[in-house]
Parts: sequence; structure tokens; C-alpha cells
Amino acid sequence: MAQAAAAPLKGPHAGHMQNYACHCLGLKSYFQQSGDGRAHPHIPASDIVWTVVMGRILRVPSFLRLEWLVHSPARAGLGVKVPFGDDALSYCTERMVPETTRRALAAALHQAKRNKAFENSRFIGLALDGTGAGRTYKEPCPLCDPIQDAQGEGHGSLHHFVLISVVGAGLTLPVDVEPYGPGDSEYAAAQRLLRRAVDHLGPRFADYVVGDGEYATAPFLHTTEEVGLPVVARLKQNLPRLAAAVCTRFDGQPPQAVFLEGDDRVEVWDADDFDPWETLDWPTVRALRYRQHKRDGTVVQAEWLTNFSLSKLGSLSFYRMAKSRWEIENQGFNDGKNRYGMEHICHHQANSILIVWLLILLALVIERLYRLRFLHRGDHTIRSAMDLLTYLWLTLGSRSPPDTG
Ligand SMILES: [Zn+2]
Repeated sequence: MAQAAAAPLKGPHAGHMQNYACHCLGLKSYFQQSGDGRAHPHIPASDIVWTVVMGRILRVPSFLRLEWLVHSPARAGLGVKVPFGDDALSYCTERMVPETTRRALAAALHQAKRNKAFENSRFIGLALDGTGAGRTYKEPCPLCDPIQDAQGEGHGSLHHFVLISVVGAGLTLPVDVEPYGPGDSEYAAAQRLLRRAVDHLGPRFADYVVGDGEYATAPFLHTTEEVGLPVVARLKQNLPRLAAAVCTRFDGQPPQAVFLEGDDRVEVWDADDFDPWETLDWPTVRALRYRQHKRDGTVVQAEWLTNFSLSKLGSLSFYRMAKSRWEIENQGFNDGKNRYGMEHICHHQANSILIVWLLILLALVIERLYRLRFLHRGDHTIRSAMDLLTYLWLTLGSRSPPDTG
């Protein structure tokens, strides 16, 4: 049977994405100098780092599957020069310096801002939240946090980290992670992470910090002031006196304003003269209550606090900032774990675990900016993540077709 001529595939492919990352996001020097700590490398770090990043975009989370990929005919299409084994991936990620990848992430986000990736956003937020991933029953590493039930019986270990992400800017882009092992805490890790992220991004990159109720404590709020950013945090029962004062004031009062936000009707109460609790050095605290009426009849009510003044931030913008915190759950942890393999530990060694988390963040940044900003120009419609994924796999095959003998 005559073989049909293969039509050239147009559109995105792995090599195109690599070019985009190197030239549009300014990552070329990072891929050449990735903080490789190996004394006598046989395999270029650029190949290893790009393979891990592209592997996450292609949703190939394990080092063994990456070994298969770089030994397949798809290697040329991936932009990887030489094949290597999973041991090279372990050896290299054990020895990479995390700071180099962290600075590369910050530089890519800066470039995105210069490229007007956030141009429709008045305020750019930084959200922080902690999570656990990579449950294991193996011999513990220094990051392993033992899981115990109420009877004190062990059920393996988890690896905890805090994530910081750009939110409220039209697309969610992760910035950095900070692990915390036994004897450390989410709270301490979050403060280290915020200081480092603002140091890397610069003080004028973002406009606010947002966090859930556990971040509404004096030391964390003082840290946000130290780095020069106003903060928006959920007000919960961990601050019982302020929570009670807010309820006493707002209960029984009609809402001060009502907004239509999408399909929802949102009632707000907003006042800026609450007393701070004894350890907080703010002159007063501003608190917002919103009652969000969804179309299906659901009502969501919550209280938030901030040190933004009423003149700098209206009630609707305050509400939007509070809601932007969800992005770190949905586009950060949920996407990271369900699509990009954040739950999977490739190589159970503390530095390798951290490096892989950072490379997952880099993969997310490259994929989102490439798909939602670069490919979405002119009259091109937005591609779904699944659509791009399928296209990348198809074009990998077409650039190096399997040898049919
Ligand atoms: Zn471990």
C-alpha cells in the first residue's frame, strides 16, 4: 500500500518551547549554567535540567520514564543532545545549587512582567501556603516528617513545603518553595520564603501579600511590613478578640455596599478602626466581611483583615484580593499535584527533592506563559493545557518517527 505523505505539523512543539524559554523568558544562561555542583560532569546539566522541565510539561514524572524518553527516537525533538540514565538524573539533582534555579524563576517572572503578561491587572499579589507531598515508607531523609495517628503509630512520612505564587494577575505563576522538616514549621518557612522571594523579585514587583488564617499572626504580618508589602489575611477564631469585635460591629448592620461580581451578588461591610491585638504593632486594623450570594443559592461569608488604607484600596478590590488566595490552592497545589507530579518523589534525597520541586515550578511558568500569552496572540484562541500536551506528544513523534524497518 502506498504510504501517504505526512503533512508537516504546524504549531507548537518542544523545540519551539525551548526557544521561547531561552529567548523570550531570558532563561538561556540558566540552562547553560544551572547551578551544577558536579565535579566532572559527563552529561551536560543543560540536557538534564531541560529533560526534567520538559518531562513535567509532558507529564512524565519519574526519572525511569525520563530515561526511556531520552533513549527513544523522541530525544532529538525534545532538544536533548545525548541519552542518559536515571542515575545521572539523581546524581545531578543531588548536587545542584537551589539558589540558581530560584533566581532563574524570579528572572523569568520579571521578564514576563516586562513582556506585559499581567497588563490587565491593577494589583499583583503574592500568595503563600503550605502543603505536604511525596508520602513514603522508605528510610527517612532529613525532610521526612513522620505521620502518626492518635495512638502514636507511624504511617510513613511526608515532605512539607511552603509555596509562594503570583496571584490576582490574570494568570497564576509560582515563584519559589521553602521546605520544612521536623523541628521546623510552616510559619517559620513562610517568613524565610517571603523574605527571599521579595529579595529576588525586588520590592516593586508585587503590590500585596495574601494568606489564610494561620498567617494572621503578628510576626508574619510584621515580616510583610519589613519587606514593604501590604497584607491581606483571613480573620478566623485564632484571633478571638478581633473576630468578636468585628462580629459585634457588623452583625445587625446593613451592608455598606453591594457589588455584582460575575454571576454573584456580593455584600460587604468594611471598617478600618479596629484595635490591634497586643503583639501587633499596627495603629489600627481594617476588617472586611463579605457575604457572597451565588446563583445556585449558596452563601459564602468570611472576614479578612488588612493594613491597606481605605483610600488606597476600595472594598471590591479588597474582596478580590481575598479571593485571589484560592489560586494557590487551585492553580498551585491542585495543578502541581494532579498534573505535574508534585506528589511523586523521583529520588529520595533532600536536595534532589527540592530541585525537582523548583523545576516543576519552572515547568509551570514556561508552560503557562507559552500557552496563555505567547501562543494566544492575535486571533489565536487559548489552548487548553490538555490540547497543548497532546500537540507536544504528536510533534515529538513526527519529528523523529519510529523506525518501521
Ligand atoms: Zn524524605
